[in-house]
Amino acid sequence: MIQTKKRDINIIIIKIMTLALLVIAVVVAAANYGFAKNLNPSVKHFWKMLYFYFEHFFRAFTVFLGSLLTYRFIKKSTGRVPLQRKITLFSFSITSLLLLVIWPIASGYWELYYAFMPFPWTTLPFQLAMNGKFYGTSLPPWKGIDSATLLLWAYGIYQVIAFAGTIVLGRKWQCSMICLMNGCHAETLGIGLPFIIHNKKRPHSKQIKPVLHTILILIQRILFTVNILLTGLWSCYLITGWTLIPENTLIRIELIKYISLELTLLMFLWVFIGGRGYCFYCPAGFGLALISRLIGQRVETGLTHCIQCSACNDACKMSIDIMARVQEKKPVRDISCVGCGLCMDNCPTGNLLYRTHLFRGFGSNSTRSY
Ligand code: SF4
Ligand code: SF4
Repeated sequence: MIQTKKRDINIIIIKIMTLALLVIAVVVAAANYGFAKNLNPSVKHFWKMLYFYFEHFFRAFTVFLGSLLTYRFIKKSTGRVPLQRKITLFSFSITSLLLLVIWPIASGYWELYYAFMPFPWTTLPFQLAMNGKFYGTSLPPWKGIDSATLLLWAYGIYQVIAFAGTIVLGRKWQCSMICLMNGCHAETLGIGLPFIIHNKKRPHSKQIKPVLHTILILIQRILFTVNILLTGLWSCYLITGWTLIPENTLIRIELIKYISLELTLLMFLWVFIGGRGYCFYCPAGFGLALISRLIGQRVETGLTHCIQCSACNDACKMSIDIMARVQEKKPVRDISCVGCGLCMDNCPTGNLLYRTHLFRGFGSNSTRSY
């Protein structure tokens, strides 16, 4: 099992970077969505541009540097980096670089990134289709193309890519390879998190207490329901023109939901729960998990033998009891599994394998090194 040595320089830099990300995100986003709206146009523009610079460049920078430091730390600690970890770090770095940096610089159109972070914003297509605005803000056209049309296309394409990848790879595709909402930070900074350890007797364990787990799952179900309701209200508004709740109130509800549950709480949970804190209640993750069930996502157990070391349980940031499934000689089909591969990477006997109906799998037997 890899240990997060407090004095390791890679881990120290990751922790500092995470703190910076956390503080800047809350300040800049709150300012942009909150008080800046009431200020004069030049100040408003300043906060908006700061927000974009943060969202694009700083976040991509942390993903890229976090990947590099995580890679270096694992290599230094164990001598080699497992294949699954290489794929995850590479995939998140490339996705961030392409969508958050290269695209905006090459095209000059920064707003398109809204379409690639769609999951907290499930009502984006309805808002755009209804009046061409998102959160009540008109977006500029791009090279003569109306912004609503452009974003709707980008949103649609992203959904197809996310869905098609999930059919083949399961939740691993979105949650552990391309997610720009939280997955990218969870895997590239997660080795330095949480700031406060969960279990003093097993300081490297990522498992959270059952009561906390239950609360987060409760939040997930509530948030999923709220998103479905909001989507229903916006679509009803779009299709029939009937406004059960006025548009301005809907927008305010969306903003409060985003700032509180999908930004502030996400950051707060990094400190106390770890990088995957948000993934416990991500409504998109819940939806993808349902699809993943249908396509046979599972972690096979019993490939070799189990020495009851608990390394798999300690490594799992989603607090899944893998050992229990091993003892029952059953695969792990937990709805929370994000397909990160950490349990496999950490199993010293190569006893586990991630797979779906269409994907033969990543196992620990061919890649194990720590
Ligand atoms: S069960 Fe394994 S693959 Fe699934 S979330 Fe836990 S560590 Fe990741
Ligand atoms: S499955 Fe592997 S990591 Fe988990 S307890 Fe058994 S030997 Fe240890």
